[in-house]
Amino acid sequence: MSPMPHLAETDPDVFAAVQSELHRQQLDLELIASENYASRAVLEAAGSVLTNKYAEGLPKRRYYGGCQHVDVVENLARRRARQLFTPLDANRDAICDIGVNVQPHAGAQANAAVYLALIQPGDTIMGLALSHGGHLTHGSPVNSSGKLYRAVPYHVRETDGRIDMDEVRRVALAQRPRLIVCGASAYPRALDFAAFRAIADEVDAYLMADIAHIAGLVAGGTHANPFPHCHVVTTTTHKTLRGPRGGMIMAHRAHMKAINSAVFPGTQGGPLMHIIAAKAVAFHEAQQPAFRDYARAVVDNASAMADRLQERGLSLVSGGTDNHLMLIDLSDQPISGKDAETLLGRAGITVNKNTVPGERRGPMVTSGIRVGTPAMTTRGMGLDQARLVADLIASVLLAPGDEETVETTRQRIHDLCREYPIYADFPGSILGGRV
Ligand SMILES: *Cc1c(COP(=O)(O)O)cnc(C)c1O
Repeated sequence: MSPMPHLAETDPDVFAAVQSELHRQQLDLELIASENYASRAVLEAAGSVLTNKYAEGLPKRRYYGGCQHVDVVENLARRRARQLFTPLDANRDAICDIGVNVQPHAGAQANAAVYLALIQPGDTIMGLALSHGGHLTHGSPVNSSGKLYRAVPYHVRETDGRIDMDEVRRVALAQRPRLIVCGASAYPRALDFAAFRAIADEVDAYLMADIAHIAGLVAGGTHANPFPHCHVVTTTTHKTLRGPRGGMIMAHRAHMKAINSAVFPGTQGGPLMHIIAAKAVAFHEAQQPAFRDYARAVVDNASAMADRLQERGLSLVSGGTDNHLMLIDLSDQPISGKDAETLLGRAGITVNKNTVPGERRGPMVTSGIRVGTPAMTTRGMGLDQARLVADLIASVLLAPGDEETVETTRQRIHDLCREYPIYADFPGSILGGRV
């Protein structure tokens, strides 16, 4: 059977690129910390006829007719998200009542909508500095969060790479932010939501957790839940949560009215109902016991990889990891983050360059590499493979001029990826023949 026969016939150019991307995802080792492999069920929902439907508004309160079926889907998504992220006490009673909006097109839109809902242009927001692991949407001057609001950063300590909570408090008391963001894109340690909340309360600020990276770990029970400490929680659905590309906002009930109108009509038009369907599917998958095992394995694999990288003489920011990612610090190595990214890419290992605290090479070159285990863990790789991959990374990075190492590593990576296939029964799979 021809994979995607309609696409192949209508548009061979796009078809060819999609096929090549499938093969890249199958054969290369994906270690970009923000990427994952969505399930076939998620992909089917995302590729469904729901893409055709306009459904501005919320279930039962739409601006268009014919929404009875997409209402079912959006309600399922909201209910499942609430079940996943509601914190429970020892008796399994809810500690707080949270509401959910599953419409944000992506994480950036979720954050923009929260700011619009809770604060005014010109108000002060506080977030982790971009160069220290924060996200563009936490107040960077090139993002609307830094243009519309007065953004003040906090940092990690250069000595141990951890968020300096004393500095957070000092900056908060001096700058009186209206909203504090806790959350990061490149921070290998656990977040202390309660400590952030104590500081937010001292200055009467909202506390927003952006769990874009760690949502799957929270859902799977390997990272603390931001509720009840945070007023609002935003996330993506495609990183550790392993759903479709998208965003979501959850909040204590009292804030939901303002948040819902900030999403629509505040910042978006019609919701992407096919993606909301795929979110519902992903949340259902995340509710299964197997997802808790997955989240545990992601973290265990990251620890094993971090340990081995350090045994091989590479430094890690903060000396290790509590979550799904680590930052290899190349400050003392001859190779830059940019060159390391290219070199590892040629060896079949996909990573991204990243600044490190105290960066000396600059943001385009960088002295770091961000490495994450969510995608390799989805393929079924475990501790032995995590250690092997760490060994291969170390061999490549510690012998930068050595072409033979790059070539043998590429072979071993491709063998490993064939041993742990992904999308093997997918139409057009390059791995299909042997599984
Ligand atoms: C990835 C990420 C986002 C943005 O997500 P997009 O879906 O790319 O818009 C926001 N915040 C954090 C912390 C992230 O890591």
